[in-house]
Amino acid sequence: MDLPKLAIAALGGTVSMQARNAGEGIVPAVTGETLLESVPELATLARVSVETLGLLPSASLDFEFLLGVLSWANVQIQQGAIGVVITQGTDTLEETATFFDYLWAHDQPLVLTGAMRSAANAGADGPANLLDACRVALAANSRQRGVQVVMNGQIHCASAVRKTDSLALQAFSSTIVGPVGMLVENTIHYLRPPAQRKVLPLPQQTTQKIALLEASLSADSLMLESILELGYDGLVIAGFGAGHVPENWAEVIETIAGKIPVIIATRTGSGSTARSTYGFIGGEMDLIRKGASMAGLLCPRKARVLLWLLVGCQRQDALASYLSKD
Ligand code: ASP
Repeated sequence: MDLPKLAIAALGGTVSMQARNAGEGIVPAVTGETLLESVPELATLARVSVETLGLLPSASLDFEFLLGVLSWANVQIQQGAIGVVITQGTDTLEETATFFDYLWAHDQPLVLTGAMRSAANAGADGPANLLDACRVALAANSRQRGVQVVMNGQIHCASAVRKTDSLALQAFSSTIVGPVGMLVENTIHYLRPPAQRKVLPLPQQTTQKIALLEASLSADSLMLESILELGYDGLVIAGFGAGHVPENWAEVIETIAGKIPVIIATRTGSGSTARSTYGFIGGEMDLIRKGASMAGLLCPRKARVLLWLLVGCQRQDALASYLSKD
């Protein structure tokens, strides 16, 4: 039987980690080729090509590296892969998924996965997650869904997924909307139809800097005041509640928003920012008046990814249309 072609890339993360010597901590060391050996069943489902594009903890991935991974994935699709799977660390999975999703122009699925337990741990989840991710990438009903994250039997869409637990096996959730699908006895069940997606052009520049600051009780404004002087091209604030900051920040934000795009998101971990509820200084109505944009359902980290990409392709003027979509 002619099996479909599936491309897999390994970038590192816990799924690729092991200790070099007994008693030492785990580090990325296991190649994609070796990861494949843990899922022999995959050979009955697809013709698999695998590459190790990196062996990094996901905290050390960066946007330029990810652009290289994206161009590798584009080539795989051009060469006939019906889906692409990327394994990586889970710590920044919510950001990389968002990054790829804004740039993934294909109907074929791009699926990201990782592991919460390394291969040496009892109950290691890497092989199951990898096999599940491959099943999702191979499934006909996964087309036109952009980039998805598969972890612990659940499928999450890139725009909603967050790492919400540091060490638990069930570490990923899609707040408000829930997972977009799940694997049941190895078949893929989607709970919602594909959402409309807006794909951005590739950034023409990669040197732009976007700051992310979190509002906290009784915070000074020293760092905020330095944003323009430090040469940032955009600012995201993880604000209180529905997107609020203290009074001493509001004035500074007005000055900054006159020069570079400013997005206010919520630091709560779930829910949307408001637009027309609170009228106090530093509340969302005041911040909108002062030139800031509200992130809506986009979390601060995803908003930062979006702004980096928009500035990179000189589309910052389109920011509102990308935020209202969410
Ligand atoms: N704990 C992380 C992981 O799952 C480390 C990382 O993000 O690379 O892979």
